[in-house]
Amino acid sequence: MRGRNGLGESHWNLTGQTGCHIISQRGGNQAGEPRVTKPERKSRIVSGPIRDVVKAALKRVIAPRFRPVARAAYRKIRYFGFSYKCPFCGSGLRRLFPFGSAMPVLTQQRVVGGGWRPNSVCPVCGSFDRERLLYLYLLHESDLFTKPVRLLHVAPEERLKRILSRSSNIHYVSADLLALDVMVRMDITRIPLPDASFDVILCNHVLEHIVDDQRALGELLRVLKPGGWSILQVPISLALQATYEDFLVTTPHGREEAFGQNDHVRIYARDYDARLSGAGFQVEVFRWAAKAEKFGGGRNLFSLIVEERIYVARKPGAI
Ligand SMILES: [Zn+2]
Repeated sequence: MRGRNGLGESHWNLTGQTGCHIISQRGGNQAGEPRVTKPERKSRIVSGPIRDVVKAALKRVIAPRFRPVARAAYRKIRYFGFSYKCPFCGSGLRRLFPFGSAMPVLTQQRVVGGGWRPNSVCPVCGSFDRERLLYLYLLHESDLFTKPVRLLHVAPEERLKRILSRSSNIHYVSADLLALDVMVRMDITRIPLPDASFDVILCNHVLEHIVDDQRALGELLRVLKPGGWSILQVPISLALQATYEDFLVTTPHGREEAFGQNDHVRIYARDYDARLSGAGFQVEVFRWAAKAEKFGGGRNLFSLIVEERIYVARKPGAI
């Protein structure tokens, strides 16, 4: 089983042994159109049997390898507008696809990056709001594209992977527990790589799946070079002061009720940066709204999550 669905969301393992597929189970398809836990308002140009006939006819005349391109071109026109813009594919959009879980705990605990969002997924390329923020951060606020670096990309976001792996200055290494299309298959709590191997590590929305997240953080710190930096995004509750975890909750249903997703083992909270510091990192928290100009301004042109912050965790020492 793969560790990632067609939408590029990660499904890291809970225990380091087995993978879970909450987002695949909930929905999503290779075309990039997610199913969600709230009903999506339909606005199809044609619907029902006519649509099926048209689709079948198009399938007959378009070769399989050209279908993704044809689909993207169609959606670029269908969703064209001036409200939003995707920094990955450059599409001007009137709306995006909704995505996320509507579990009550995510709303009650004000979990940023976890709950249902009405304009989350680019209908043309499938980029997620979280992925767009990460890309814009790397582009505008880091030196990632300016000098030679060795980069480890854990549970890689699909569109970001494409860009980073093709950048001539980046020695790119992708890794995942289950996905087949990565360069290293590994358990993040036992990384099979030497100490101080990387200048940069991207490991997003993985730690909330791992019981022994401190051990995973220790491994990430170990393979990072002194002075190197990582981005370690997780869903975070703005309502909770302390991270909530209860290892007596072990069933998928129980975890969904308690943590908002059936393969999550905790809800991180306002103490997340302290947890990273406790593992040995120097932590910087970046708030994109403070630099809104490059991030889409007050109108939120790139449809980012307004309260999302970037957690940059650096290994102490000189580069
Ligand atoms: Zn896009």
